[in-house]
Amino acid sequence: MADKRDYYEVLGVSRDASEDEIKKAYRKLAMKYHPDVNPGDRAAEEKFKEANEAYEVLSDSDKKARYDQFGHAGVDPSFQGGGAGAGFGGMDFGDLGDIFEGFFGGGFGGRGRTANPNAPRRGGDVRAAVAINFLEACHGVKRTVETTVQHTCDACHGTGAKAGTSPKTCPTCNGQGQVRVAQRTPFGNIATARTCDRCGGRGKIIETPCNDCGGSGRKRATQKIEVTIPAGIDDGQTLSVRGKGDAGLNGGPAGDLHVMVTVRPDVLFRREGYDIFCEIPITYTQAALGAEVVVPTIDGKVKYNVPEGTQPGTTVRLRGKGVPYVNNARRRGDQYVEMTVEVPRDLSRQQREALRRFEDSLDEKNYKKRKSFFDKVKEKFSD
Ligand SMILES: [Zn+2]
Ligand SMILES: [Zn+2]
Repeated sequence: MADKRDYYEVLGVSRDASEDEIKKAYRKLAMKYHPDVNPGDRAAEEKFKEANEAYEVLSDSDKKARYDQFGHAGVDPSFQGGGAGAGFGGMDFGDLGDIFEGFFGGGFGGRGRTANPNAPRRGGDVRAAVAINFLEACHGVKRTVETTVQHTCDACHGTGAKAGTSPKTCPTCNGQGQVRVAQRTPFGNIATARTCDRCGGRGKIIETPCNDCGGSGRKRATQKIEVTIPAGIDDGQTLSVRGKGDAGLNGGPAGDLHVMVTVRPDVLFRREGYDIFCEIPITYTQAALGAEVVVPTIDGKVKYNVPEGTQPGTTVRLRGKGVPYVNNARRRGDQYVEMTVEVPRDLSRQQREALRRFEDSLDEKNYKKRKSFFDKVKEKFSD
C-alpha cells in the first residue's frame, strides 16, 4: 500500500481548522473532483476518493481524535472485514445532490439540479463493537455481530404501499416534492420553491399504507453478521462491512456496518506497533549459571537458553515472532523478551549462611560492573 497523505494536507487545512473550515475545504474539493464533473478522469477520481476519506475521518469527532493521536493507524480504513473490497467503505459516489444534501438540508439547487425526492438514497451506516482477546487479535477470529438495522419491508418491497396497491405520483407537484410559488415583493416577483404540502416533499402519495411498515417502506430488525477479524488487528481499529448497514431508499445502496474492535489487555504480552514485549522472571542462580527456560510466544511455548552470566534487564529479540501485519500476514513484527532476575526472599538461617559463604568466595573478577563503578567513584572523589 502506497504511503497515504496526511488528511489535513489532503483537505489543505491546518491541524487546528474548525469543523466549518474542514467542511468548506472538502466541499470545494468534492465539487472540483467529483466523477460527474470529470467523467473518465482517473486522477480526479482518486483525488475525490482521497478527499472523501479525509473528510469522513476529520468530520467525525471520534475518528478525528484517534487520527490526531495515532495517525492513519488509528482509523485505518483498509480493513474490509476480510473481503477483497477495494476502496473506502464509507462513501459511494452519490450524485452531487446527495453529497450536498448533507450540507444544505436538501436544498441544493445551485447547479440547476433539484433534489429529486425519488432519487435513490444510500442507507445509513450502522455501528457495532466487539471485544476480543490478545491471541485472537494476533491470529484473527470470526465474530457474530448483532445489530439493529432498517430493512426493506418484505410485505411492500419498500414502496410503503399495501400489497396490491402502489404509490401514486403526487398530482400537486408532479412527483417533484416541491412547488414553485411566485411571491410579490418590492423588488418584483420572485419565484421560490417550497416543499409540497400534499405529499410532504416525497413526491408520492400512498393511499393505503402497508400494514407491516406503516408506509415507510422499511422496518427495524435485528441482523446477525459474521465478521472476519483479520490477524494483526489492533485495539480501537474499525472494520467496515460493505452493504450491511441500513437498507437504501428508492433502490439506493445499503449503508455499511462499522465494527469497532477492542482488544483486551493480556497478562503476558504487551503490544507496540507489530512488536510484542514480554518479561521472563529467571532466578538469581539461572542468571549466574545459565539455564534453559520456556518463553511464551503467540505461536506457543519455545525454549530459550539463557547464557551464563545473564544480567537483569537483558533483552533478547525473537525475530518474526511478533504480530502479523494486517495487510500482509506473511510479514510479522518481532518479540522482545526481557530477563528479569528474581532475588530470593524469606531465606532460612542455613540458606543465609550458605549465601554469605558463597559471597565471601567471590572477588573483583566476578563483579566487573561493580568494580568499574567503584573505580569511577574513587576517581571522582579522590580527595
Ligand atoms: Zn407533492
Ligand atoms: Zn411495508
